[in-house]
Amino acid sequence: MDFELTEELEAVRGLARDVAQRELAPQAAELDRTERFPVESFQRLGELGLLGVNVPEHFGGSEMGVIALTVALEEVAAACASTAVTMSVTNMVGETICRFGNDEQKTRFVPGLTSGALVAGAFCLSEPGSGSDAAAMSTTARRDGDDYILNGTKAWITSGAHAGVLICMARTGAADAGHRGISAFLLEPGMAGFSTGKPEDKCGLRGSNTVSVILEDCRVPAANRLGEEGIGFGIAMTALDGGRITIGSMANGIARAAGEQAASYALERKQFGKPIAEFQAIQHKLADMATELEASRLLVRRAAWLKERATGSGQRFTRQAAMAKVYATENAKRATEEAVQILGGYGYTREYPVERYMRDARVTTIFEGTTEIQKIVIAREILKSIA
Ligand SMILES: Cc1cc2nc3c(=O)[nH]c(=O)nc-3n(C[C@H](O)[C@H](O)[C@H](O)COP(=O)(O)OP(=O)(O)OC[C@H]3O[C@@H](n4cnc5c(N)ncnc54)[C@H](O)[C@@H]3O)c2cc1C
Repeated sequence: MDFELTEELEAVRGLARDVAQRELAPQAAELDRTERFPVESFQRLGELGLLGVNVPEHFGGSEMGVIALTVALEEVAAACASTAVTMSVTNMVGETICRFGNDEQKTRFVPGLTSGALVAGAFCLSEPGSGSDAAAMSTTARRDGDDYILNGTKAWITSGAHAGVLICMARTGAADAGHRGISAFLLEPGMAGFSTGKPEDKCGLRGSNTVSVILEDCRVPAANRLGEEGIGFGIAMTALDGGRITIGSMANGIARAAGEQAASYALERKQFGKPIAEFQAIQHKLADMATELEASRLLVRRAAWLKERATGSGQRFTRQAAMAKVYATENAKRATEEAVQILGGYGYTREYPVERYMRDARVTTIFEGTTEIQKIVIAREILKSIA
């Protein structure tokens, strides 16, 4: 067993850290304030191979693997979590098309995703009435000759107004068929009957775009169906198993940035005639933050390693992905709150980035499956393994 990053992974980390610190960090506060979606950043990340880190080179990816993706995402999230969430979902969409798409679909969509030409990929599962219970979706897809006609509203779609391709789950089977009646489709924004709602006015990740995707008699060629009819829910759950690992690494990036900011502030800020870093209560907070970050990172990397090993073998890593997500995201929530505490009143202002970290971290325990749902997934896997 070797806990060190390989030379190749160190190089990925260096590349991602460089672009993150030089180009993404300086604009993060502005994106948060103005809610601007930084299209140019995705073209840049595409140039550097960071939008298809675990995608085959043949389709424009950099084929560096799942651990590389977690390493790169941690760097990007430490600089700008809004950019990281789009990077995470775009990587997930590219990988999912590679895994379930046919050659025509892979050739048509994946190089545009990995290069940034399509700006971003989006993943449409949630609806206004179905979040955690995603299989209760009401969006329908009715076959009409060589097309499907889609009707319904998808909610909370990350990058929905900018994405050049969107994976959308819709019901092709009977309303009572549950998860078995769901299929996946590749939507393009120019399709007749496709529109997006106004951006959500969010508490954090304000530089990311979150909209409803509205489908009104949206005509989608059957050639855009991803996989066979009826396997859409399985496609979504497979995508989310991987997505949860990347959301974990995004949470680690935010927690790391918060810890670094808190430690350097503690060395500078003096009270009672000495730096607050000399008070044991502050030292304990810094120690907890560092220890829990280390534990989160190990969980995320192990889940990433299992996913890498599972490629081609069909082995599952659902339990470890859920564990990594729940631990890393709950840790990011705690760590960013503690960072605000260490900065005192200044932490509560926009003069320092820690209040943004706290707002950005908050949603990581909610999207791609809430903490409560991850615990259900973990418990189910444990019980299944001993039944
Ligand atoms: C910023 C943002 C970006 C998002 N991006 C996307 C995206 O790109 N694509 C997409 O499809 N979705 C996206 N989502 C949606 C996200 O995945 C859902 O918000 C999430 O799955 C929870 O669903 P919900 O909000 O409807 O909450 P609900 O499902 O209504 O849950 C509300 C509360 O009840 C709890 N709960 C629900 N069921 C149970 C249960 N069985 N046991 C115990 N507790 C339970 C939940 O944990 C939660 O605390 C995004 C959301 C946000 C906020």
